[in-house]
Amino acid sequence: MEQRNIRNFCIIAHIDHGKSTLADRILEITGAVRPQDMKAQFLDQMELERERGITIKGKAVTMEHTVVGAGNDSGAGDAGDAGNAGNATQSGAGAPAGRYQLNLIDTPGHVDFSYEVSRALAACEGALLVVDATQGVEAQTIANTLLALQYDLEIIPVVNKVDLPSAEPERVAAEMAQIFGFRPDEVVYVSAKSGLGCAELLDAIVARVPPPSGAAAADAPFRALVFDSTYNTYKGIIAYVRVADGAIARSDRLRVMSTGKSVEIMEVGVFAPEPTPVDTLRAGQVGYVATGFKDVQECAVGDTLTSHALPAAAPLPGYVELKSMVFAGLYPADGEDYTRLRAALEKLRLNDASLTVEPETSGALGFGYRCGFLGLVHLEIVQERLEREYDLDLIVTAPSVAYEVLLTNGETLRVDNPSLLPQPNAVSEIREPILGVTIVTPNTFVGAVMELMHARRSEFRRMEYIQGLGDSESARVVMEYTMPLGEMLADFYNQLKSRTQGYASLDYTFEGYRAAPLVRVDILVNQTPVEALSLISHRDTAVAQGRTLVEKLRTTIPRQMFEVPIQAAIGSRIVARETVRAMRKDVLSKCYGGDITRKRKLLEKQKEGKKRMKRVGRVEVPQEAFLSLLKIGDEG
Ligand code: GDP
Ligand code: MG
Repeated sequence: MEQRNIRNFCIIAHIDHGKSTLADRILEITGAVRPQDMKAQFLDQMELERERGITIKGKAVTMEHTVVGAGNDSGAGDAGDAGNAGNATQSGAGAPAGRYQLNLIDTPGHVDFSYEVSRALAACEGALLVVDATQGVEAQTIANTLLALQYDLEIIPVVNKVDLPSAEPERVAAEMAQIFGFRPDEVVYVSAKSGLGCAELLDAIVARVPPPSGAAAADAPFRALVFDSTYNTYKGIIAYVRVADGAIARSDRLRVMSTGKSVEIMEVGVFAPEPTPVDTLRAGQVGYVATGFKDVQECAVGDTLTSHALPAAAPLPGYVELKSMVFAGLYPADGEDYTRLRAALEKLRLNDASLTVEPETSGALGFGYRCGFLGLVHLEIVQERLEREYDLDLIVTAPSVAYEVLLTNGETLRVDNPSLLPQPNAVSEIREPILGVTIVTPNTFVGAVMELMHARRSEFRRMEYIQGLGDSESARVVMEYTMPLGEMLADFYNQLKSRTQGYASLDYTFEGYRAAPLVRVDILVNQTPVEALSLISHRDTAVAQGRTLVEKLRTTIPRQMFEVPIQAAIGSRIVARETVRAMRKDVLSKCYGGDITRKRKLLEKQKEGKKRMKRVGRVEVPQEAFLSLLKIGDEG
């Protein structure tokens, strides 16, 4: 396929606006998937992705599309001068007739995975911006569009779900025009469910998205950007690549530019959508290279691949590497499972380079790992995969952010575990990570959002009314704040949702570190400090948070045979205390002489409950207790 007949595009959307469904329709219309093989959400192969309805890993698929003839008056509107990115072939109403290769690069919708989105964007020339006709522009719509504009993509605005009775396509198109400056006639209206407008959308992609540029000459040095990778037992690391220049054949020797390492290629191929070997991958194409490497680091995402025989002079611009933002300790509920946990984490890391893992030991929890995640949803997904795919029972400590600590001796320390914060007299400044937050909410809830943001130490930046076609009553508002990431960990998302009856949407980006008066609050259970329960908090709220945490712990720690004091301390000062009263009688004595099956049931129930208990000194502490930290935002 000639380079000018290739189109690389991705789909960006707020969650649930229909990205996966639209991808399904496109796969169907182009015949990439046979009808009998079609299942909903085709690209979401991971079991967890289907269940949760979110895309975690980006995917790519190669399709063919034939444009029947120029001038077919499509719902795509008048392409005219809509494309401004120098596509010489587009003029008149449609795309020139002919066969085209379309490469769809799927992107995750959730904010935790926006690094995956930016990878996908770097591999494309165009993006379909899908907005639900019953909802309108949401926070992730805005964030992803801004990202796509940074990468200079041609954006095709798509209003989806026009089949629904409650759809308001014109209002939503007007919102897109107001916020992003699209012209009304650029908008393509579709129903990803029924397929209405989808064939016309494909024509619009061909007409408006420019073909890839790049030195296609056979003798140009090969360069390809690695935008994702997976691991295969036989073929090693499989790099998903977008070829920028030149070509690579299966018989060539490959070189990784960052390391200079070279290797025999095991296979090159395209996603059609199943991995399908080909002889050569050329400039503009999207496909994969099986490298035989065993370690993700040897062929990292963002790296440039070139040919060993004819190496390129300089690598392609890669990605900004995203650091882990949220940290938590993962411990096996049963200490015997430690080696199984290690093996499982190593395997997961082969597929997920954003997960960081360091050994950690805790007085209360024993041997485990301190893991770094992109956000809370990433943490939940890793935990769920470990429990489900590797059959592990885990204790997960409350998540923390990473702090930058300037010591009095001038050194700077990175602290991602509150219990490792040095003594106050050694610390001259603590800096915390700050987010830029975008919230989109109906006008009615602006006050409620402001109140919540105030309670979370946020600073207001600006707001904008999205009027659409409606009156101010029905208007929605874009609100922008800066906010400490630490404030988001304690139940922020649920609070936002409940205060706005589920209507607000949220997106955020990391902006940097800022100094704040922070102190550590320690928790003592039966006089024993439990590091896993320490938290770092703002000076003004530390005492109140310590008190709330101690109250929560009193209700989660079951009664023992003796009285258990639970205390919060700042330095050596006790700031709160609660007591778990002693159990009055042995539970079993109730069944004395009674029904034996009932007794056995009771014992089994206790055993069940024990599975997720950890012993702190003489006290049994359940898993929920370690997550109490997450709930202290409730009262905010
Ligand atoms: P994603 O999160 O953006 O991938 O959204 P999905 O593709 O998973 O769609 C979210 C929900 O909207 C699913 O229940 C889909 O069946 C539904 N949906 C998607 N497109 C349409 C459409 O055009 N019409 C209708 N009625 N429902 C749709
Ligand atoms: Mg989806």
